[in-house]
Amino acid sequence: MKIKILDTTLRDGEQTPGVSFTPDEKLRIAKALDDLGVDVIEAGSAITSEGEREGIKMIADEGLRAEISSYARILRGDIDAAISCDVNSIFLVAPTSDLHIKYKLGITRDELVKKTLNAIQYCKDHGLVVDLCTEDGSRTDVRFLSKILESATQYGVDRFTIADTVGIMLPERIHEMFSKLARESKVPLGVHCHDDLGLATANTIAAVRAGASIVDVTVNGLGERAGNASLEEVVMALKLGYNYDMGIKTEKITSVSDLVEKSCGIPVAPNKAIVGDNAFTHEAGIHVDGILKKPETYEAIKPESVGARRRFVLGKHVGTKAILKMLSDLKISVSDEQLRDILNQVKYMGDKGKKVTNVDLEAIAHSVLGIEVEKAIEVKELVAVAGNKFTPTASVKIKINGREITESATGTGPVDAAMNAIRRATKEVPFELVEYHVDSISGGTDAVVEVMVKLRSRDRIITARGAGSDIVLASVDALVNGINLIMRHLD
Ligand code: MN
Repeated sequence: MKIKILDTTLRDGEQTPGVSFTPDEKLRIAKALDDLGVDVIEAGSAITSEGEREGIKMIADEGLRAEISSYARILRGDIDAAISCDVNSIFLVAPTSDLHIKYKLGITRDELVKKTLNAIQYCKDHGLVVDLCTEDGSRTDVRFLSKILESATQYGVDRFTIADTVGIMLPERIHEMFSKLARESKVPLGVHCHDDLGLATANTIAAVRAGASIVDVTVNGLGERAGNASLEEVVMALKLGYNYDMGIKTEKITSVSDLVEKSCGIPVAPNKAIVGDNAFTHEAGIHVDGILKKPETYEAIKPESVGARRRFVLGKHVGTKAILKMLSDLKISVSDEQLRDILNQVKYMGDKGKKVTNVDLEAIAHSVLGIEVEKAIEVKELVAVAGNKFTPTASVKIKINGREITESATGTGPVDAAMNAIRRATKEVPFELVEYHVDSISGGTDAVVEVMVKLRSRDRIITARGAGSDIVLASVDALVNGINLIMRHLD
């Protein structure tokens, strides 16, 4: 059976606290979603603002393959706003639980039904596809849901969606609810789940197993409160678990996730399924050994099937196989004795609670091999100032491939200004800073801090560190260490 994907990253996803997309960002994400193969893009809620309408209209005018939809309440003004954006369909939301009808709307069930049917009629009169979504549907008396479904069908509704708006559903209960509705329904059923109990994906799958054929999802599981069911989890679970056809180009999942992460500024948790940084990262020696012999031993999902890359991280569980693999990625060859030395140093750092990055491993290998490495970039001078009467500013003089470059930049503080100045001075090096993290190793204001940066250069991820009692110098050190590694392996 074909399962349709309705992506609501641009509507429910944008209701994530702190997230707001510009019209251009919305369009870029919509194009990526279309390219990924989603069936319906809920582009926003047209009544919200002028900027929102601009974004929705840009998407609707783009001529994408996907159906473009706007959220609307059962109010004529909401529907008119959506119509003005030239959308194909309306995600028409009617609160159906007694709690919502009584306390939010202050009306009766009969009045609610009447308003809903009028709204459907109005949408149909304007030639729109209508997906009626029952807000708080999971806490609605199921007999009342049946009644709404029946009347809405008579009014020509095209789809009927049950929303677990507050994320309180459980897999067996949602299965039971959808089984009943699927027996009665003449239109396709949709499911819209939230992750308040961490069950959004499980509930979505359960609904599909009971007859739902449209799943509402968001990229990276963005969304109100704990978020929505995540596109990547639902798609991969339906595909790998049940072999459903969804027409999704799964190998584009990672790049779409990256685009959304960058646009909204909400970092994906490292341990997030499918798209977290650690989803295909192996540390333990036994695992790495198994993976190198046959990836299936510890990888049930192929990283390349979602466009991700396998990574190895070295810690105290490391074995020689992983070290050899990482050294060969760094194009360093070693003797057995040198390898033992390197292994001991990595384990020593692991015992101290440190994860050995590729930059660390390269430095260890160079010292064991007695190699003096000429650094491609070196900081000659650095000044960073902060205060309450002016904009934090930094200027830097670096030597890069023998040339001296002086640059300056401002920032939100001295660290940001210094990092920006370095970035300007090294703009010829293709990379972006994807993560910055500071740890204080000792207490007090003279504490030693350790800065970790993660840089992405083309399809490689480099992790580098810097340490010291001056946070600006430690940060610059970490960044420069990472850039040096990138430059050594640019070719
Ligand atoms: Mn929602």
